[in-house]
Amino acid sequence: MNKHKLLLVKPAQMVGSRIRKQYKAYFPNITLPTLAAYVPHEFDIDIIDETLENIDFSKQYSIIAITALQQNIDRGVLIAKYFKKAWKDKVLIVGGGINFSFIIAEDYCLTKEYKEEILKYFDHIFIGEADYTWPLFLEDFLKGVKREKIIQSEKRPDLKNIPFPRIDLIKWKLYSKMPLYKTNFLGFPKFGYLVPVETSRGCPHDCAYCCVSKYWGKQIRYRPAAEVVKHIKKLPRDMLLIFTDDNIASIPKYTKELFRLMIREKVEQNFFAQFTFRSADDAELIELAAKAGCKNAYLGMESIQPESLVSVNKSSNLPERVYDLIKNNELDKAKEFLKAYYSEVFSKFKSCGIHPFPSVIVGLSGDNVKNMYETVRFLVDEGIMLMTQWFYTPFIGSRHFKDFDKHEIIRYKKFGRFDAGYLVFNTASVLGIVNKDLEVAFWDSYKEFYSLNNILKRISKNRMPFKEKVMFFIINLFYYQAVAQRIEPFTLSWRTKWVCENRRNL
Ligand code: SF4
Repeated sequence: MNKHKLLLVKPAQMVGSRIRKQYKAYFPNITLPTLAAYVPHEFDIDIIDETLENIDFSKQYSIIAITALQQNIDRGVLIAKYFKKAWKDKVLIVGGGINFSFIIAEDYCLTKEYKEEILKYFDHIFIGEADYTWPLFLEDFLKGVKREKIIQSEKRPDLKNIPFPRIDLIKWKLYSKMPLYKTNFLGFPKFGYLVPVETSRGCPHDCAYCCVSKYWGKQIRYRPAAEVVKHIKKLPRDMLLIFTDDNIASIPKYTKELFRLMIREKVEQNFFAQFTFRSADDAELIELAAKAGCKNAYLGMESIQPESLVSVNKSSNLPERVYDLIKNNELDKAKEFLKAYYSEVFSKFKSCGIHPFPSVIVGLSGDNVKNMYETVRFLVDEGIMLMTQWFYTPFIGSRHFKDFDKHEIIRYKKFGRFDAGYLVFNTASVLGIVNKDLEVAFWDSYKEFYSLNNILKRISKNRMPFKEKVMFFIINLFYYQAVAQRIEPFTLSWRTKWVCENRRNL
């Protein structure tokens, strides 16, 4: 029997007519192999991350499913258009995920035409998490049942017993190998792929620029720890895990159970995970994370300015005392208290052998050029080995997106630049600094952090094995080189090229 062909696509980023291509990426997107896990055997599945591979528009598929980050969604609409033009009713094109959901269901658009265009080229749009609706849709397709255009998920899925991603479908040669923090029998460092693992969904914090709480809910849902560990144990041994949860420690009781089980079951896979600063209030949790194999803790620090954090409701970084000091208008004291708190959290992670990896946002309310340099120098003094810096970007689905749109301060009519590497709003009206000055200070402060002097200074401030120092020195040199060219280093972008689309071939 001939099988139906199914294409699962993550589109590339597109700015104007230029498409971003990458030679390699750090790790695969988890959504496509997760969708693949629900697909019955009557389908042959192709997974394409367009940043790393080209799409063959001349190939006929029965169903094409597109999911996109906000900077990829413009291209996603174009891919749908090209396939529709080529194959008309012989293909069903479906879209889903956070951005399609919010644009279609709640009008998070930059122009009225944007939504109309999506509805014109897509046969179906899935609203909300598709764990229940996607398999039913495929079942109906096989039975010949025609479904409604907008397929709304009625309830948030229970994560118990849902399948784990089909990582066997990932083309691993498209990804970079990373140091595994392990050595072989000769004492040389081992390298392996980064594999994403999801344990939970949701976030209780509801920051003003973020859509996670709105899409996945404020109530945390999690996969049973035993199921997660069973999945991890089936993965190849020479891999590094990356937990994709926005905060691995949202429910400390669950997270401790997971880490204890990983230790008891001798999983022995090192991992990276995102934590909040408040996670470190629980010393036992951090110790268990380290024993379970945690090597890097990604922390959304965002700012050392307490008022900036309050302006976006970043409560996950703020101890109660900071709120009290702000209430009493003691802003300088609040800032000093916050820096001391961050410093204590960094020390707690480091003392267990976990490297804190903070990320900083530039362009929050209350930001100024002086703050940017102060933030970078604070992180250098703390001996932070890696950090990333992003422009403030309101996500589709967030409160600030609607506010910025209403006040007409968003500079673009398309989403291609919404990757936090571009300033997408007019800063003069919000911060009293013109965009150009903010951009110059952004790159200069970033360069200061990754200057050769500061790389050596930061390494000298850390007690860690010599081999690890060498490893961080090399990674920092890559970052230094990227930042010197004003290229965001975290997404392996120095191995990026922007290509002009040749529309005649489509
Ligand atoms: S930014 Fe992080 S802490 Fe804030 S709502 Fe989003 S996921 Fe939660």
